[in-house]
Amino acid sequence: MNEHKIIEVENEKSDSEDNLIVESINKFLEKDVKPYVKEFESQDKYPQDIADKMADLGLFGATISPEYGGLGLSAVTYSKIVENVSAVWMSVSGIFNSHLIMCAAVERFGTEEMKRYYLPKFATGEIRGGIALTEPDCGTDLQSIKTRAKKVGNEYIIDGTKTWITNSVQGTILAVLVKTDPDITPAHKGMSLILVEKKDGFVSRKLKKLGYRGIDTGEVQLENVKVPTSNLIGEIEGKGLKQILAGLELGRINVAARGVGVARASLEDSIEYAKIRKTFGKPISEHQAIQIKLAEMATKLEASRLLTEQAAKAYDSGNRSDLQAGMAKLFATETALFNSTEAMRIHGGFGYSPEYNIERYYRDAPLLAIGEGTNELQKLIIAKQLVSED
Ligand SMILES: Cc1cc2nc3c(=O)[nH]c(=O)nc-3n(C[C@H](O)[C@H](O)[C@H](O)COP(=O)(O)OP(=O)(O)OC[C@H]3O[C@@H](n4cnc5c(N)ncnc54)[C@H](O)[C@@H]3O)c2cc1C
Repeated sequence: MNEHKIIEVENEKSDSEDNLIVESINKFLEKDVKPYVKEFESQDKYPQDIADKMADLGLFGATISPEYGGLGLSAVTYSKIVENVSAVWMSVSGIFNSHLIMCAAVERFGTEEMKRYYLPKFATGEIRGGIALTEPDCGTDLQSIKTRAKKVGNEYIIDGTKTWITNSVQGTILAVLVKTDPDITPAHKGMSLILVEKKDGFVSRKLKKLGYRGIDTGEVQLENVKVPTSNLIGEIEGKGLKQILAGLELGRINVAARGVGVARASLEDSIEYAKIRKTFGKPISEHQAIQIKLAEMATKLEASRLLTEQAAKAYDSGNRSDLQAGMAKLFATETALFNSTEAMRIHGGFGYSPEYNIERYYRDAPLLAIGEGTNELQKLIIAKQLVSED
């Protein structure tokens, strides 16, 4: 099982046009990303050249409909791309993933006027951004957010703090989850999603992180930020939480695919290393203890990929796919954690050195269990679907 075999199997399942896109992205990963990962990662430096080339490839419009200038890729093809990107450098996937969740919210729920204005600019990457949900006091319990948007005439005046917001330093726009009515119960009926541009006055400070380096994740201050009421996503207030949860279905498939990518890279590097590293007169790949590790890693990887593909197919069918997306996210990200830890053990002391990629996989994988809804929350979502009467 090597990288090339996996990519060939995947490509057989895609139609020919999608195949060409996947192939051109694989070439870009080999030529323009792989040689530079260590430099940018170690310095926590934003890979501007890589982001510019991603724009040329159309990645910022990957899931936007061609009608609005995007590539219109299915979730199935998209998740394969995310897997391949994350197998090389997970941070790169973050540059377009949270941007595309914002795009999905606009395309699904925005007015035609909003879609015509923003989506073509989102698709080319001329305007790039992400989603701002989490606050210093709450991430899982989003109904407790405090960021407030008051309607005054034709404007919303927004005040609040968001934290851990990916693409908020390099990006210029965010879909911000706010309270338009903080007194109503249930609280979600007072929550709305509003597009806020940097020119409107939000300020972001880059945060330091264990992994997922290079890409900017920041704390965002919104003080007396004024935006036109037409920036509300959808025409009615109070739909924001539902809109973002629908967008997060694609987000969870993304994160599952990232998990598959990190789990795959951990396995592939381990196989290669196990064949060359010798102890007691033979390669460690001939010791049963190592073989058992490789077998478990490979089996969990394949199961993760199948769950992710199933979730992507459910999403493409147009139905809600919370159950499948939750299961894929949970299993694939736990597999990334498992495989990166096993890869560290297989590599012995060398796994602990920045000369090898293993320590990066090991630092990147934990984010997957936190982002787009923690894995504890995924279990609650899965259980809710199982016991639901609908
Ligand atoms: C690198 C990075 C990038 C991020 N990017 C973004 C972004 O772009 N946009 C954005 O909005 N956010 C982003 N986040 C934030 C992320 O989505 C949140 O950290 C996550 O949702 C968890 O929220 P929290 O950190 O407030 O944890 P908390 O909600 O405080 O949870 C703490 C712990 O309690 C558990 N828990 C909470 N409630 C329950 C419950 N009911 N039952 C059982 N267990 C529970 C959680 O699973 C977790 O283990 C990012 C985070 C990181 C680290």
